[in-house]
Amino acid sequence: MKTINDYNFSGKRALIRVDFNVPLNKELQITDDSRIRAAIPTIEKILNDGGSVILMSHLGRPKEGPEDKFSLRHLREHLGKLLKKEVKFADDCIGQSAREEAGALKPGEVLLLENLRFYKEETKGDEEFAKKLAGLADVYVNDAFGTAHRAHASTTIVAKFFPDNKLFGDIMTNELKSIDKVLNDTRKPYVAIIGGAKVSTKIDIIRNLLDKADELIIAGGMMFTFIKAQGGKTGNSLCEDDYLETAREIITEAKEKGVKLHLPSDTIIADAFSNDANTRLAKSDNIPDEWMGVDIGKESIEKFSATIAKAKTILWNGPMGVFEMSNFAAGTKAIAEAIVNATEKGAFSLVGGGDSVAAVSQLGLAEKVSYVSTGGGALLEYMEGKILPGIQAINE
Ligand code: AMP
Repeated sequence: MKTINDYNFSGKRALIRVDFNVPLNKELQITDDSRIRAAIPTIEKILNDGGSVILMSHLGRPKEGPEDKFSLRHLREHLGKLLKKEVKFADDCIGQSAREEAGALKPGEVLLLENLRFYKEETKGDEEFAKKLAGLADVYVNDAFGTAHRAHASTTIVAKFFPDNKLFGDIMTNELKSIDKVLNDTRKPYVAIIGGAKVSTKIDIIRNLLDKADELIIAGGMMFTFIKAQGGKTGNSLCEDDYLETAREIITEAKEKGVKLHLPSDTIIADAFSNDANTRLAKSDNIPDEWMGVDIGKESIEKFSATIAKAKTILWNGPMGVFEMSNFAAGTKAIAEAIVNATEKGAFSLVGGGDSVAAVSQLGLAEKVSYVSTGGGALLEYMEGKILPGIQAINE
């Protein structure tokens, strides 16, 4: 793996693909700067070596060309505060201003380019566009794990213009090392916990885990497809009838492969999809009509926590219930705490995928698990065993 730590950036201009796709409020202020903070070590390593830095990122999903609400200009001041230095800005990522500002950069200086997605060429992976970006610098660093599954100009295509000077940044390196611990270099018992809304979005990752994990906990909305597949009554709960057969196949495959599959035995049920709904505790396979499962019950929490307590490797993706509603968040919270306890006793725990990351952050537990992945779709695809173009582009 070619990383920035194997390279001396002295006198070099480094073009870094970062993921500064941060949330902004209506006043265009950053409401969560964790993605920017995460990129600081890579930037500082290059500056400390005596190099200069050109940062490129996307922000939001602009439709047709530039839109002020998606301008990276809104990040400039905050980035400057974090780096404790002025950040220059080019209002067009490949135009004259970018060329001039990049050409004038001195060692120790930082230039931020305007949103890459103001050009449709970015997501199309256009080679000419990538070449123009590449012309700004001597070395390319990819530190955007969250977009590594996309063959975009700045994440993949640009690398071919740096055949000998393309490297992984710190975030990428940490992601790949951490994911390796739950994919290849695992300590047993390995417990994988998959929750979230739908089975359909997680089938490939579940199948891949059947070759790796010792125990697999399936909860969240997707549990009901498995429960119904075994003949249970799931009432109004989320259920993908098209996937009942797939669920049965997964249950059989788990048995054949010796993976212990855990489904919640009890469920908090609600009479409406609302935090104010009436609730009750029910057996997961006996949910009355008109009621829906919204969280795992006490017995399931106890059983899952005991399984997690024995684990040496833990992967968690997807909440246990509708955790965005405070009355249905207890299961997700309890499982997060069980993972933290196991981590304190020496297990390696990786939390990844949008909503479980949001859950551990909201609970203030992000620092207490071994690693929180920055990649949603990228992490899932990597876990499914796919080759990510952004990673391959650096490795080949
Ligand atoms: P995913 O993006 O697939 O990880 O799904 C996350 C979403 O699943 C969250 O918005 C949760 O509210 C939702 N979810 C979890 N459990 C349930 C459930 N029992 N019924 C409906 N939605 C759920």
